[in-house]
Amino acid sequence: MIPDLPEGMDQIKGFLAEDEAQALYDHARAASALGPVLEIGSYCGKSTIYLGLACRAANGTVFALDHHRGSEEHQQGEFFHDPDLYDGSEGLMDTFREFRRNIRTAGLDDVVVPVVAGSEAAARHWRTPLGMVFIDGGHSLDAALTDYRCWEPHLVRGGILAIHDIFEDAHAGGQAPYAVYRMACASGLFEVLGRVNSLGILRRL
Ligand code: MG
Repeated sequence: MIPDLPEGMDQIKGFLAEDEAQALYDHARAASALGPVLEIGSYCGKSTIYLGLACRAANGTVFALDHHRGSEEHQQGEFFHDPDLYDGSEGLMDTFREFRRNIRTAGLDDVVVPVVAGSEAAARHWRTPLGMVFIDGGHSLDAALTDYRCWEPHLVRGGILAIHDIFEDAHAGGQAPYAVYRMACASGLFEVLGRVNSLGILRRL
């Protein structure tokens, strides 16, 4: 259903269900007509590749924002820590190397523009209106709120806001993305398009 999907997508580290990948692809492809796509929280580039394939098909661009030092849950001793992505010489997580390899292997170097920075720093002088914003960054309430507040204002009318990892049940996952999703739903700024698995999708009015 997704043309030109590279071999070995299931080998790429990341957390994205198949139906969510398809929904991201479809929305990114349509929203590219309105402006570039911004992804917040690229990790090793799995979702970035789906967005990138969509944007390539629509002559669009993906800005892939991530400081590549891992979110809270990726740090040493935390549940989602992956020792392969830990740079012992720096004493820090480093997902950028893996990210670049995956984007290059997928042939998307000319579609995906990495922005290696924190959300707030990257947003400070941002002036480009966006066709789609995909929030999949840090899952602390502070990080998720910052991502929403920094980037929601840059969405054009008709643009898509997608939020990953929405779990009503606290046993299934952290509650910060859900809190931000509810905030967006209640803001009056969006039409709620609904849910695909843990992905919430809204359209800017
Ligand atoms: Mg996620």
